Amino acid sequence: MSPKSFSLKVSAFCLVFVLSFSQMTAAARPLFEFPFQQDDAKIKKLPRVNYVRSRTIDVKNVSIDLRFDWDKEQAFGATTVTLAPFKDLDKFYLDAAAMNISAVSLASGAALKFNYDAKKEDDNLEIILDRTYKRGEDIAVKVEYRTSYVNKADAETAIGSFGRGLRFIKPTAENPNKPRQIWSQGETEFNRYWFPSYDSPNDFRTSELRATVEKPFTVVSNGKLLEVKENADNTRTFYWKMDTPYTNYLTSIVVGEYAEVKQDYEGIPIVNYGYVNETKEVAATVKNLPDMLKFFSEKTGVKYPYPKYSQTFVEDFGGGMENISATTMIEEMIHDEREMLDEDSDSLQAHELAHQWFGDYVTTRDWGQIWLNESFATYFDGLYHEYKKGHEDFLFNNVRSNQQGYFSAWNQGNRRPIVTKYYPNKDAMFDQYAYPRGAAVLHMLRKHLGEENWWRSINHYLKSNANQPVSTEDFRIAVEETTGESMDWFFDQWLFKMGHPIFEVTQNYDDAKKQLTLSVKQTQKIDATNEFPQVEFFQSWIDVEIDNKIEKVWLKPQAENVYTFASAAKPLIVSFDNEGTLIKELKFNKSTDELVFQFQNDKDVLGRLWAMEELAKQSAATTTAATDKTKIINALTNAINKETSWRLRRQIITDMPTGENPQSQIDGMFGDNAPAPKFSAELTSALTAAAKDQNPNVRAAAIAMLARTKDAQFANLYSAALGDQSYSVIDAASAALALTKDGRAYDQLAKLVNTPSWKNRLTIAGLRALSVLGDKRALDTGLKFAIDKTQTSNVRSTALGIVASSGKGDPRAFPLIFEGYKKALENNEYQSIFNGLVSLVRLANPRGQEAFDLAKAKFKAQPQLIGYVTMFEGQFKKAIGNKK
Ligand SMILES: [Zn+2]
Repeated sequence: MSPKSFSLKVSAFCLVFVLSFSQMTAAARPLFEFPFQQDDAKIKKLPRVNYVRSRTIDVKNVSIDLRFDWDKEQAFGATTVTLAPFKDLDKFYLDAAAMNISAVSLASGAALKFNYDAKKEDDNLEIILDRTYKRGEDIAVKVEYRTSYVNKADAETAIGSFGRGLRFIKPTAENPNKPRQIWSQGETEFNRYWFPSYDSPNDFRTSELRATVEKPFTVVSNGKLLEVKENADNTRTFYWKMDTPYTNYLTSIVVGEYAEVKQDYEGIPIVNYGYVNETKEVAATVKNLPDMLKFFSEKTGVKYPYPKYSQTFVEDFGGGMENISATTMIEEMIHDEREMLDEDSDSLQAHELAHQWFGDYVTTRDWGQIWLNESFATYFDGLYHEYKKGHEDFLFNNVRSNQQGYFSAWNQGNRRPIVTKYYPNKDAMFDQYAYPRGAAVLHMLRKHLGEENWWRSINHYLKSNANQPVSTEDFRIAVEETTGESMDWFFDQWLFKMGHPIFEVTQNYDDAKKQLTLSVKQTQKIDATNEFPQVEFFQSWIDVEIDNKIEKVWLKPQAENVYTFASAAKPLIVSFDNEGTLIKELKFNKSTDELVFQFQNDKDVLGRLWAMEELAKQSAATTTAATDKTKIINALTNAINKETSWRLRRQIITDMPTGENPQSQIDGMFGDNAPAPKFSAELTSALTAAAKDQNPNVRAAAIAMLARTKDAQFANLYSAALGDQSYSVIDAASAALALTKDGRAYDQLAKLVNTPSWKNRLTIAGLRALSVLGDKRALDTGLKFAIDKTQTSNVRSTALGIVASSGKGDPRAFPLIFEGYKKALENNEYQSIFNGLVSLVRLANPRGQEAFDLAKAKFKAQPQLIGYVTMFEGQFKKAIGNKK
């Protein structure tokens, strides 16, 4: 699956959106770091051990028949499980959670005795057979039941917003425009909440699903749609069948009112079930999907293995879920053409599609090896990105960000090997190790093997384990059988042990010998307080780049490796680990001149990025000479419009040293009192030019940077940018215009609020900017949108920002904002939660403290979110203090 909260980019984006009034520009960089305080004295005990579950039965098929009670949010089910015992038995067990079971019978109709223990975790439905059945003999048992678990977002699981089992979506007093839908969530072991079966991943079986629903609802499920039967009572019964065996948690159902957007890949139908009034946008969003099926089919050498592929878009989903041949997706991923100028949903679609091979065709045998699903889907999404957007963009967007994702977990003290039996609970495994760190390891493996052996190994792994549960050893053996090379060391070092190398590299050029010497020290230390296995010294091939030529060297697993290279003159660029393949920390001291040269001339975009980051550090250091600081600023400024990678151009802008301290940047986001930085004429002119960059994300970043000056001389530039096609440029320009307090701002922003657009993007941009502007005239607009229940919660919570800034002293303001905030908290609406906190800072009513206390209690297990809440709380306390 692809939970929203696990995608760093998405969650960082969501928060940064709030913080900086929608600069998507800053999405790539963590705005604040919350350093991990290591408690050295305490030994961190291993979490509990989890072994693969034993089975007494082999399930062959489940056949599910459902009707629904929308009012009670229950399903009436009759599920027939066909199975064979592993040994002679006269009773067996199924997993069935929170059910009211009315009858159990044989296929003949003969009733069977049963015992149901709703409190037990596994094996809680005991079925007493009519006689002893032999090992291997087929038994078909029908269970009739009513579900009783009401699936709400579940704060107890890390994948909270998916909840467990069947979710009923209905219009409510708060959201009268919600469509009616039912969707299921099976991963990890939650399908037991809507049908009884063996509900752990180490068993494969086929499935059938019949569901009867009122017209005009459609039922989407796995495999092939064999029949839609019209019934006399204005209902229809949909009959889906999946003939290829697969694991239990991938069975799914979606009920909703849909229009189909159909595609095709070599005769395999692709169906996108979108909202009836969104077919144009659905078609635009999914336009690359057939190309993705082609890419994964051809690259893996295993043609898409199921009779159809569908994507169904639903409300309130946690992200995407790779249900077999029938992915379920969050509805917010649908974009119109304009939104796709800034961002598309190809990454999420490629991730879930890649799972059809990695996760569905082969499935992790147990949750301790979930990387076999998630790291592969994450890396293969990256491989599609590389094919579509080029190698350089892939390095920046995937290789680097996967490593960053891992380091964010590591730096917060979340440390474990990728593969382990020691974990507190199943859901806890869906973390930065399962997704980005494993993807970063797959990238190292691909580099180690080379393209041909990598793809041959992938093909062999899939073919030799087709339609079966797998373990990490199966993958290692597939690579070894393909290449002949022992991969024990690689798997041991990167997957079964935790940690990464910390390198200290020094270079020395000998003029007489015409020789470059590179000393490479590994300075990482075993953490004696952590019981997980760790690597003392790493081994690997490493690409050393010398003046844009690559030298391959072997790093031996020892404290120091020394390499010499013949070179007619002192090299201008020496880059350790070209293209940033290794998961590592690197200390490699260079002079300002060396770094500036590398920043301007390295062919490797990650080399240029590394040099830029080193230059930024030098620029911030008090020990750096003033002349060097000037050189650095000049080099960075000049690169804003010269750098070829748009991602790096954006990063140069957002990371530009401006002399502001971070606190005043935070204060600046709340508008009023913070001093604005002054930019040099050169920087101003570079940013003004970049505001016309061909890439909208760069344009938005440039405008957001200029906005920090609050200088009215740019008001015309911002006004013009309100006419840009890109929503992110308009987001940035509207906020920028508000910060200038230019006399024309109010009218222009009010107009933006009333301009119709996809998902109210322009309305939201206008409302957000009006809350920055703080013009009294905006209060009525704010109130109007804030209490209009036909508006989305994002629009309403944004409008509350105006009530906060323009409605100080108005008795309606606090209760409105606080109630809206509490609803958002209840419903896990992150954007609205953080919009609410920002509003409460602005309003500076002391009663707002309760909101921060509630947020801290809710996010207690999520240190990064707590960090943001605490930061806002500090801002809130300051605001109250100012008022007194
Ligand atoms: Zn996934």
